[in-house]
Amino acid sequence: MHCFPVPYPDELIYSLVARAGIRSAITSSKQLLDEVYGDRKVIATIDLPSHLSSISEQLVNTGRFDVQQLIYEHTMFPIYAPFVDESIRIRAMERMEYCAKGSVHLMLGAPASIVKTSDNFCVCPACVAEQKQKYGESYWSRLWFLPSLPYCPKHGLLSQSRTSYHDSRHTYHACGQIQCQPFLSNTTDKAEQQVAYLANKAKEVMCLPAQDSPTQRQWSLFYNHLAHDFGCGKGTKQIAHDKIADLVVSKIVTPELTINSDRDTNWLRTIFRRHRKAFSYLQHLTVWSAFIPEMSASEIIKEVKSKDKVTISFSKDNAHLMPNSNEKKRKQWRYLIDKTPIKKARKLQGGGALYAWLYRNDRDWLLDFNRVHQSQL
Ligand SMILES: [Zn+2]
Repeated sequence: MHCFPVPYPDELIYSLVARAGIRSAITSSKQLLDEVYGDRKVIATIDLPSHLSSISEQLVNTGRFDVQQLIYEHTMFPIYAPFVDESIRIRAMERMEYCAKGSVHLMLGAPASIVKTSDNFCVCPACVAEQKQKYGESYWSRLWFLPSLPYCPKHGLLSQSRTSYHDSRHTYHACGQIQCQPFLSNTTDKAEQQVAYLANKAKEVMCLPAQDSPTQRQWSLFYNHLAHDFGCGKGTKQIAHDKIADLVVSKIVTPELTINSDRDTNWLRTIFRRHRKAFSYLQHLTVWSAFIPEMSASEIIKEVKSKDKVTISFSKDNAHLMPNSNEKKRKQWRYLIDKTPIKKARKLQGGGALYAWLYRNDRDWLLDFNRVHQSQL
């Protein structure tokens, strides 16, 4: 496709495709799908789109925007990634590359979560004004689509449209084409402060570099230790759930997360127990805001990943005791090198760290692998 637009910061893929249509003066939805994806059945998805290899191909001349970069910088994926198991994170990314048939939402638990993405378009009028001044046009920013948190981290309350993007499955609406009305809010100043905190923390999570997810066990240990560190423990391992509720309840600002303290299975109790399933970003962030409001998202994730670490030293002789993490890192490196030349991959944010890790822990494999793949170029 000629003159395919380059994504703006935080621009959703959905928005990019809409702008591509406008640029090429394509008015038929089917024709636009044909031109961009070579497939008329692709569904216009705001938050977790698939077929990203086609988008990456359209951008090949920029020398940037491999699939991983598109996923991490231009979709809502990063708001789910740290909270699901690593195997799910990898599989979801693989699905987003090609035809996913809706399974990405299921994998990441979006439909089952009590925290939901709005079905309607949202905009921040102040951001729109800034975009127009800077770029001469407006676009859909992913920061306006935080599930259950319609709030711009920079400017505050958003405007909302009565139009749902589910109304037309194959049509991409550009930001400037949709009318939005201001959200009428009767929240108190204190509640708004908390919403602003959550939106900013969510932005931090969205901007974390691509990395392995902590395990559910690491999350469980993290919350158990947190409770004990802050005097909400009973004995050595038990949790005083009533004390936790006292601290957290005042921080809950979204009706979806309201807690019925009488119920043994409310989400706040279960997040402090053994994690059997992933929780949504907003549940995590609400707890963080009560206990560790000063800690950055990246410090928190680092702390979580430090739990339950078994350090084993290797030599060639016991390479058969390969821990799972090696295989995981190998898989990630293979995945990356599948699409990106080695030299370039090392310069990518997550790629450099991955290379360094493999070099330290799995050197023979890495060098063998790279030798084979370099010669194929
Ligand atoms: Zn804004």
